[in-house]
Amino acid sequence: VFAHLVQAPEDPILGVTVAYNKDPSPIKLNLGVGAYRTEEGKPLVLNVVRKAEQQLISDRSRIKEYLPIVGLVEFNKLSAKLILGADSPAISENRVTTVECLSGTGSLRVGGEFLAKHYHQKTIYITQPTWGNHPKIFTLAGLSVKTYRYYDPSTRGLNFQGLLEDLGAAPPGSIVLLHACAHNPTGVDPTIQQWEQIRKLIRSKGLMPFFDSAYQGFASGSLNTDAKPIRMFVADGGECLVAQSYAKNMGLYGERVGALSIVCKSADVAGRVESQLKLVIRPMYSSPPIHGASIVAVILRDRNLFNEWTLELKAMADRIISMRKQLFEALRARGTPGDWSHIIKQIGMFTFTGLNPAQVSFMTKEYHIYMTSDGFTFPTFEIV
Ligand code: PMP
Repeated sequence: VFAHLVQAPEDPILGVTVAYNKDPSPIKLNLGVGAYRTEEGKPLVLNVVRKAEQQLISDRSRIKEYLPIVGLVEFNKLSAKLILGADSPAISENRVTTVECLSGTGSLRVGGEFLAKHYHQKTIYITQPTWGNHPKIFTLAGLSVKTYRYYDPSTRGLNFQGLLEDLGAAPPGSIVLLHACAHNPTGVDPTIQQWEQIRKLIRSKGLMPFFDSAYQGFASGSLNTDAKPIRMFVADGGECLVAQSYAKNMGLYGERVGALSIVCKSADVAGRVESQLKLVIRPMYSSPPIHGASIVAVILRDRNLFNEWTLELKAMADRIISMRKQLFEALRARGTPGDWSHIIKQIGMFTFTGLNPAQVSFMTKEYHIYMTSDGFTFPTFEIV
């Protein structure tokens, strides 16, 4: 009965790894892989994560029963504090509801389905360009996806005017997806002054901000600095949604641990929102996994482990910055034609090189260097 099926194309990002794995060359390099790599090109498990796992293993009272539909409650509280700030009035006023979800992707999907079911506007505006999974997640969640201008290829920077014009022209109430920091795939973020203008526009038009925070701590090396745009929106008392991922900043990729927070106008509303989120989650996967969320909770609740985490996170962020400098210097030292300064200006894990598909294909064929072939992305370190 399935004989009529055609072979589906590989995911454009994950497909890079498939091609890489097939290459027998001993000098191959995968720049499309969605994870941080050490100097030796190896995956990194943070020390602090190993310690947390030791604690979990040696605690004989731990059980493996199902979590509630909303996940590990302590993890949810700590996650809201991490992103909104420990002193956030929205938290102290109990206006935030947080549910554990399957990493950033799952948090976006649950948030998308909740909005499609209960929010009066069904259109979500996403940046042009964006992470390739965004349009698919929100379309399947039942929203209609439109784009707003974001990246200016001529400056390899932000098209701020275009962004303001497009959001200004969006129908009132539309949902706006915002990358909290380290925009994927451009590495171009608004300045704090530009964020303030974006905030004013979004609030004045009654648009609904939905933050995707997949890289907290990775852009600047500081968890608080990277959360600033979100906190500006929460400080004005308005509503917003936030999808958090611990894949990159704790290196918990395969544990699939993340959280969706919805900041509401009152504790009463937040309680009802949570009750409806449960109805979205229950038929989707019933309840989330226990292990990854437990690791995060152990680290976030313990001052020493938390401090150790921030140091390890900063070391990863600093190394990314240093790799950018080294790549830039190496291109300059070889007299490579073109302006490569965007490599050091861009933030986070991604670099937009401006290489076209033919150049990407040349790099792969001649040098066994694998990266996405869409012609204008070149992740120095990761992209999934
Ligand atoms: N949002 C963005 C912008 C991403 O780049 C990613 C993946 N790197 C995610 C969300 C989701 O990642 P995950 O589901 O692994 O947390």
